[in-house]
Amino acid sequence: MSVGDVYDYRAPNDMALAAGQFVTVPLGKREVTGVIWGEAANSTLAEEKMKDILSALPVPKLPEESRKFVDWVANYTMQTRGRVLRMAMSVPDALYPKAPRVGYLRTDLEPDRLTPARGRVLEFALPGVAQSAAEIASLAGVSSSVVKGLADKGVLRSVELPAEVAIDVPEWDRQGFDLSGDQTAAADQLVAAVNNNDFAVTLLEGVTGSGKTEVYFEAMAACLAQGKQALVLLPEIALSSQWLSRFEARFGVRPVEWHSDLSQSERRRNWRAVIEGRAPAVVGARSALFLPFPDLGLIVVDEEHEASFKQDEGVPYNARDMAVVRGKIGAFPVILASATPSLESQINAQGEKYAHVKLPSRFGGASLPDVEIVDLKEHRPGPQRWISEPLLASAQSTLAAGQQVMLFLNRRGYAPLTLCDACGHRLQCPHCSAWLVEHRLVRRLQCHHCGYRSKSPENCPECDAEGSFKACGPGIERLAEEAELLFPDHKIAMIASDTVTSPRAAAEFVAAMESGEIDILIGTQIVAKGYHFPNLTLVGIIDADLGLAGGDLRASERTYQLLNQVSGRAGRESHKGKVILQSHLPEHPVIDAIVRQEADAFFEYEVSARQHAGMPPFGRLAALVLSSLNPESVMGFAHQLARNAPTADNFMVLGPAPAPLSMIRGRHRHRFLIKASRDVNIQSVLGKWLKGRKVPANVRLQIDIDPYNFM
Ligand code: ADP
Ligand code: ZN
Repeated sequence: MSVGDVYDYRAPNDMALAAGQFVTVPLGKREVTGVIWGEAANSTLAEEKMKDILSALPVPKLPEESRKFVDWVANYTMQTRGRVLRMAMSVPDALYPKAPRVGYLRTDLEPDRLTPARGRVLEFALPGVAQSAAEIASLAGVSSSVVKGLADKGVLRSVELPAEVAIDVPEWDRQGFDLSGDQTAAADQLVAAVNNNDFAVTLLEGVTGSGKTEVYFEAMAACLAQGKQALVLLPEIALSSQWLSRFEARFGVRPVEWHSDLSQSERRRNWRAVIEGRAPAVVGARSALFLPFPDLGLIVVDEEHEASFKQDEGVPYNARDMAVVRGKIGAFPVILASATPSLESQINAQGEKYAHVKLPSRFGGASLPDVEIVDLKEHRPGPQRWISEPLLASAQSTLAAGQQVMLFLNRRGYAPLTLCDACGHRLQCPHCSAWLVEHRLVRRLQCHHCGYRSKSPENCPECDAEGSFKACGPGIERLAEEAELLFPDHKIAMIASDTVTSPRAAAEFVAAMESGEIDILIGTQIVAKGYHFPNLTLVGIIDADLGLAGGDLRASERTYQLLNQVSGRAGRESHKGKVILQSHLPEHPVIDAIVRQEADAFFEYEVSARQHAGMPPFGRLAALVLSSLNPESVMGFAHQLARNAPTADNFMVLGPAPAPLSMIRGRHRHRFLIKASRDVNIQSVLGKWLKGRKVPANVRLQIDIDPYNFM
């Protein structure tokens, strides 16, 4: 048992308790909230040391499936159950009932004195519908005190409103779109899986624009028809205004959302609605998987190949994999949807572990875009320029035809590197082993790892030369500068995770694209995801090779998926789309597969490379990341672990080695990588290795099973 795990308490006789009950208990000198995990058959704790449970909280029990899920995830990720449980009870407020709200109604009485503010309140206060002071005040554009003042005078009268705002119920029996033949066949299979009420995983693979969303909506409708809850996981939920509108068009109401952009009161309301079974359809980020669903009947993981489903910090877990586990525990189907499924899922689908449903063509006869390669060795743009002659020509003709262009470059800021022209000194983050990135719009240098910001120095800190700093390479800000020179008469918009930071900003951007206010869209990977812009017909990929460098296990796979997704934004309706891919490596298998649009060719190439190297899914990986503010402590502990590293034929411990990012936020980092064959229980190997080894107080040890991040 370790900190944050299961502790024994005595249940007072007068308290009706059961497993799953939320309770308060004493822990040391504090009073904390916990969940009853079960009855301790024979506690090892001495009778006199046992403390009483203090109170049971007035909230439904944490469902058994959720508890099993917490156990499973804790076991697999080698984290304490307490840490995992905390993700399931992330809104402490929600455990307590909410104070009833007060609403106000108009009476017959007139105010003795009518100020303009009071007049506006009286315009909006209704005799028949009670509204809260805040609601009336915001409609009237006055402060709530005006409303309350009128209530004191008897002009308004107060009544009690229900504490919880009601959740809209999706109209699952509404008619969706008329589906095409392929779509109907796909939807039928998914619906059959839902109606079978058992665990099953289906890979829904369909080219971009084939209508995967409409198809899995049918499965959701079938789940809702049974009165069960349905959950959809999306990689960038905060930016998914188009998805939300489509859900609303299909089911008549907005779904319940779960992501980090919710306000505290929305989180509270939504968590409570889920555990009380009042939230039939939930869409969320990966953390939504830990919501306490009492009656979950379906999970859809959309864009299942997305690396952002893997959480690296806190409890490292992969939401796509854990969604499958959750389905198994709850005995319900799971749908994994993608145009470019992960290698793992494709292999599972081939091996018949997963059912495989395909949508081979775009909906409505739209064809896939033509992909053209521009070899940058032949068509070198001028100095400090990144748009080649052929791309420029295509962009000009696209714009002349009144259509939209997207330029894709997966790099935020102005330039990835800033160096002194006099001495070559590079500007580096003081807290990380990483270069500072210039963001000219906000006039700052930024570290993309820790968020450190500074002004650009006037003089070089190394050689003191004045005004000698030079930007190297392009980021999207610099690309936008070039586009402005080339297309002075067109409206250009720049989209990156630091320019679109809220759902509202994302919705505004979508509206501007849809209404044609934007001619040229310049963006990073966030524009690659899921958007549907009918008039966007040309996609220019500025540097197709960008993701291929580096030793990441999934570099090729990720580049293939990203380029494919970006390309998929072009020509999604009646106009034919075109993709221009600028590359220095036109012969590279990834680039070649994109150009020839041969998914199978890439798949075979990648499978054989992984198989040959014994890498996932043909082998298992785990990482140990050690970090400390003190470099000696981390090295010392790393070497101590290395001396005791286990050895065997079917697994290998690599390291310790300084992490590629050897310092983040001032913490020095060392890594081990454990590589094992598939038949090895990697958790038990790690468990034996680490058992009884004391991690120094100033060192942090992070275990990452199935790592995605090798930095
Ligand atoms: P995918 O997710 O496979 O890229 P989408 O589900 O986004 O594809 O569908 C692409 C576009 O085609 C969307 O605007 C969608 O509303 C539309 N669409 C798909 N299927 C139909 C259909 N059967 N009837 C009408 N519109 C459809
Ligand atoms: Zn930094």
